[in-house]
Amino acid sequence: MGQSASSPAPLPFPPKDAVRDVIIVGSGPAGYTAALYCARANLQPLMFEGDIPHIPGGQLMITTEVENYPGFPDGVAGPDLMEKLKAQAARFGTELVQKSVSRIDFSKRPFRVEADDEVRFGKAIIVATGATARWLGVDNEDEARNRGASACATCDGALFRGRELVVVGGGDTAMEEATFLTRFATKVTLVHRRDSLRASKVMADRAAKNPKIAFKWNSVVEKYLFDDKKYVNGVVLKDVKTGKTENFPCGGVFVAIGHKPNTELFHGVLDTDENGYLKTKGGPKGATMTNVTGVFACGDVQDSYYRQAVTAAGSGCQAAIDVERWLEAVGH
Ligand SMILES: Cc1cc2nc3c(=O)[nH]c(=O)nc-3n(C[C@H](O)[C@H](O)[C@H](O)COP(=O)(O)OP(=O)(O)OC[C@H]3O[C@@H](n4cnc5c(N)ncnc54)[C@H](O)[C@@H]3O)c2cc1C
Repeated sequence: MGQSASSPAPLPFPPKDAVRDVIIVGSGPAGYTAALYCARANLQPLMFEGDIPHIPGGQLMITTEVENYPGFPDGVAGPDLMEKLKAQAARFGTELVQKSVSRIDFSKRPFRVEADDEVRFGKAIIVATGATARWLGVDNEDEARNRGASACATCDGALFRGRELVVVGGGDTAMEEATFLTRFATKVTLVHRRDSLRASKVMADRAAKNPKIAFKWNSVVEKYLFDDKKYVNGVVLKDVKTGKTENFPCGGVFVAIGHKPNTELFHGVLDTDENGYLKTKGGPKGATMTNVTGVFACGDVQDSYYRQAVTAAGSGCQAAIDVERWLEAVGH
């Protein structure tokens, strides 16, 4: 409202068998922002936040410091940021259910949504199930995450200023991340398991021409090495042709082998691009609508390019406004 009066207390939630205006699936920055906007538009959203293995709060629950979310000049811990987004969504009347959705019947409206023993119905659905970064899967990787190993150069690059870094991968993302990291690193070594890159020629050429980037071909990371403060200070590299291993010192490791959008629930129903990300209509109006009328998507599940908390939140806002206007247009 932007004025001095605060919003009135939200209405009680409708009974479980009521058809809800909108059901939101997923509780990352996209889902909570969509919930906040839907709630403030009086749509009384119901959100399924997910449950293990779907972490309520999403990807930022597994990171320490977030330094690039606007409004936090001193940075904010990922879980603290998500707690705030959740509280804000709840304050305006979002019903939060900590369960994973196991099935949605998209064949007719209202859509039937199943989560454990619950069945709910929604006139509109917002899909905000996010994506999962692919990690190497080596034995001691869990100890390395947030202690020198990262899956996001845009997020963490600036924390690695003045160090020698390793980037693992051979696709466009790896080239992009390696090139970006040369702004901070003294040297970046690209470790790739083959002797040629999967990346597009233009990206590969750009990386090859960068004097700060070196390549380690036919090599895989076997494990991480740590200093006595349990911070990554190297990796064990194995040459896949000769089988030889070497200890390779570095001040940080960026894993850039791709992300997997969380779209299992939607296979065969919602259109995806060639990498499995949900397709939305795009454009200036109703941008977040999928190929199924009444189903909208926001955040990383439909974005293989930006993949940031603030862009996910922004598209969550778009999805909520799209839902509100669509419901209005269909005579809600
Ligand atoms: C280690 C790490 C550090 C990062 N650091 C930063 C950073 O510093 N700054 C930044 O801007 N970005 C950062 N990112 C990227 C950022 O986290 C993502 O861009 C953002 O979280 C995407 O938001 P989202 O809402 O689309 O999806 P997610 O955060 O992935 O959330 C998806 C949600 O969907 C839920 N879900 C999935 N399936 C189901 C289901 N079947 N039923 C119910 N719920 C389901 C999950 O439980 C989760 O709550 C980082 C990512 C990682 C992995």
